[in-house]
Amino acid sequence: MTASAFRLSARAETVKASEIRELLKLVGRPTMISFAGGIPDPSLFALGDFQAAAREIFAGPASAREALQYSTTEGFLPLRQWLADYMGKKGVAAGPDNILVTSGSQQALDLIGKLTLDQGDTVLVSRPSYLGALQCFTSYGARFAAHDAPLDVATDPAKLLYLIPDFANPDGRTMDRGARLAALSRAERLNALIVEDAAYTDLRYDGADLPPIAALDQQQSGSIELTRTLYCGTFSKTLSPGLRIGWVCGPAALIRKLALFKQGGDLHTATFNQRLMHHVALTGFEAQIERSRITYRARRNAMLSALERHAPPALRWTRPEGGMFIWLTLPEDIDATGLLSEAIAADIAFVPGGAFFTDGSGRNAMRLSFSLADEAQIEIGIYKLCALINAPRKKRAAMGR
Ligand code: PMP
Repeated sequence: MTASAFRLSARAETVKASEIRELLKLVGRPTMISFAGGIPDPSLFALGDFQAAAREIFAGPASAREALQYSTTEGFLPLRQWLADYMGKKGVAAGPDNILVTSGSQQALDLIGKLTLDQGDTVLVSRPSYLGALQCFTSYGARFAAHDAPLDVATDPAKLLYLIPDFANPDGRTMDRGARLAALSRAERLNALIVEDAAYTDLRYDGADLPPIAALDQQQSGSIELTRTLYCGTFSKTLSPGLRIGWVCGPAALIRKLALFKQGGDLHTATFNQRLMHHVALTGFEAQIERSRITYRARRNAMLSALERHAPPALRWTRPEGGMFIWLTLPEDIDATGLLSEAIAADIAFVPGGAFFTDGSGRNAMRLSFSLADEAQIEIGIYKLCALINAPRKKRAAMGR
């Protein structure tokens, strides 16, 4: 029987299998050069640090029992303290009461959707935007509009601005200081909350760090309790995505509400995982980030260089200062989804651009991730991909179109 044979919620209608997830099933082939998933290279995981942390947690019965027991919804206090200190280094003065540990930052997005959205509410987003956020806010009834488009405050009272200021998924772009301040003043005018998704912020390869919107907000309002920004962070792109540890930082009043929703969702984030992450963050966070930066910077450079050499003249692409993604724009008449099956047959994967819009835009674009393939694979993959993009155009030209 299909799901539609059952009496489900209206919300169930809005959830559809995503292109990314369907596609990821195919990219496991050992011969595949994948530019598809935005996932860290597992060879970078700090295995020794995690092994040592696990041994220490299980070394004594008291610590081992605590790690195996239920724990508080807000999260493991020493981890929240570590995260508050981390936020402080980014210019956001926060205490543990301003932090909720979540099961990945994806859960933070979901809880924020639950906290703020009613059916038909508008969420302002960048275009393109992170597919997982679009899906999650859609399930709470959201409609979307561009965060920087002219907006009639009276007729379109948006409740939420969802932004990825650093090296965004999917287009790798970074908002400069002026754009961050403009987003903040727009949110103030709308009396809306800002969701600052900082999933890639620690992976900067060139240029100077920019202040998070949460820090600019705090500079203007004087205290975190008076801010309107919920900062969503994660260890997924730096230490481990599998342990599912993220966090949200914001005014304590909102953090308490989010914790109530989290209680109804999963009671708390896995106790052992939080302790493990706390150990590894304490001992090896900086070193791990440095290792990741060196590897990904070289891969980003390799992909940009391969594009310079192999891309047909009509292609355009972004030059990210960090993160994992380059956004490639093809000529208008090329549909990236159509190209994908040919690419997969040639053992190359990417994500078609349409996945990152809710209105059918982005058909002639694709997201290329440089986090997983090494430099030699990137060179071969980009060469083959550019040849594929070029091939039908040559054929069309030969046919006189
Ligand atoms: N935000 C962005 C922009 C992402 O790319 C991702 C993961 N792809 C997430 C949030 C969610 O990550 P996690 O739940 O692993 O923290």
